[in-house]
Amino acid sequence: MTSMIEVSGVSKRFGGVVANNQISLSVPSGRITGLIGPNGSGKTTLFNSIVGFHPIDEGSITFEGKEISKLRVPQIARLGLLRTFQQTRIYGKMNCMDNMMISVPQRRMPLSRMFVKFSAEMLERAEAILEFVGLYQKRYLPAGSLSFGQQKLLEFAMALINEPKILLLDEPTAGINPTLINGLIDRLRRANEEFGITLFVIEHNMRVIMNLADNIYCLAHGEMLAHGNPGDIQNDKRVIDAYLGAH
Ligand code: ADP
Ligand code: MG
Repeated sequence: MTSMIEVSGVSKRFGGVVANNQISLSVPSGRITGLIGPNGSGKTTLFNSIVGFHPIDEGSITFEGKEISKLRVPQIARLGLLRTFQQTRIYGKMNCMDNMMISVPQRRMPLSRMFVKFSAEMLERAEAILEFVGLYQKRYLPAGSLSFGQQKLLEFAMALINEPKILLLDEPTAGINPTLINGLIDRLRRANEEFGITLFVIEHNMRVIMNLADNIYCLAHGEMLAHGNPGDIQNDKRVIDAYLGAH
């Protein structure tokens, strides 16, 4: 089993708050890995560190064997490591196709080429991906008119058009109705199986993550609490206590 991302002894502090303390984990290639933990346990902070959103205080992060902890977001994105946000980042006044188009430079193009005319091939790809996530019919509607769940599907599509090797998803199902959750899980699984995209997913909904991931890490208070397959994690007393203690 090759690992795509290796996090070793990573710490991140905000003033006096230790958001991540000596975190180590590995994300295997071609699989779906979960990251769970109560609110405030440091999950989003870890994603931010991996994608180069802020510098880490100590430790090492490698992507396909290459140290990336000193690189910035665009450099890391160009290597094929992308993320989606807990709050979606779409342009509400622009239609879905235009949102797809402006997201392309993330990985493939330098900023200076952002304003070149997009090729017919690129437009076709955007349509095919919107079809894949179930938004083809709505492709010329303003993104802001979509439901929150559909906006998350659009954000997922915006990541896919950049052909990521790995996609980090921060609470993809939060705020989405149950019908769309099932559709989204299905799409995530297909992106993994059919397109070979490795997924690393932060998820608060236990049912969802148990269903989706084949290995799961659990954080609590900035520390790594447990790691195992869904069955192990579900029955781990430390994990159960961390969740019960949080509510
Ligand atoms: P989670 O995603 O698991 O809910 P976060 O990573 O968002 O947790 O937060 C972990 C801790 O770090 C929290 O105590 C949070 O308040 C703190 N934190 C996160 N980001 C910042 C920031 N930019 N500035 C100050 N504190 C932060
Ligand atoms: Mg978070």
